[in-house]
Amino acid sequence: MNQPSQTKGSPEPLKPLEIPGPLERIKSKIVVLSGKGGVGKSTVAANLAAGLALEGLKTGLLDIDVHGPSIPRIMGLAGANTTTAGDVIVPVEWNWNLKVVSMGFFLPDPGTPVIWRGAMKGGVIQQFLTQVAWGDLDCLVVDCPPGTGDEPLSVMQLLGREAAGLIVTSPQDVAIDDVRRSVGFCRELGNPVLGIVENLSGFSCPDCGAVHQIFSSGGGERLAQECGVPFLGRIPIEPAVGRAADQGETFLAVKGQTPAAMAFREVVRAGAAFAAAQLAARA
Ligand SMILES: [Zn+2]
Repeated sequence: MNQPSQTKGSPEPLKPLEIPGPLERIKSKIVVLSGKGGVGKSTVAANLAAGLALEGLKTGLLDIDVHGPSIPRIMGLAGANTTTAGDVIVPVEWNWNLKVVSMGFFLPDPGTPVIWRGAMKGGVIQQFLTQVAWGDLDCLVVDCPPGTGDEPLSVMQLLGREAAGLIVTSPQDVAIDDVRRSVGFCRELGNPVLGIVENLSGFSCPDCGAVHQIFSSGGGERLAQECGVPFLGRIPIEPAVGRAADQGETFLAVKGQTPAAMAFREVVRAGAAFAAAQLAARA
């Protein structure tokens, strides 16, 4: 199901949205992917978006994980709701520079399971891209469900080939095999890979300040080398990051001087460089 090659048989691939449309006002797009769940993809997406916004970029964060939207909780926006103006959805503002839309804002309560058919999911994703008052954005970060299924495929097709994939993995070899598929997925669609991030890589110890390797590590970097894509660093497990996420304080993870904060900042730097390049290409 997660093999990108199976997408070849899709009868009607979604066409990139026509220009000029609302997407024309979004100058760069980063789609955050992971081979499998449980690698902290949403935390990386949230910190990337918050970091870009804090760098002064007008940023959007779109969470299209219809099965388990976690962005509202991570961003401290649980219970927030979008509003509508006419038939346009007005995003929730995390701060003056960051607009957020999550499937979670549309669910009656966080425990409600959502069952969507494929076509409906594609429709919702299209709506999130075209009928949201994103305004002028320097960068839109899209948090996809794990794998290379319908949602990531719809997003990539709708955004077109200039959208870059950012692939989040954990260091274990089993995750590495999945991430190889994510790289293949981007390549097959003709989208660039911004890089691979190895998350949950070692334990950043609050007692001694060192990063202790509790599992094998380095798999993400080896794979990046093997595939010829940038390696954007290792983000260690750090109690403060989880605490911040639980309290909806993404800001802390970006602002601090801890190993995890510095690693997040490298990812933000790569995202900002990509956004600047996209901007320059348009000028
Ligand atoms: Zn220690």
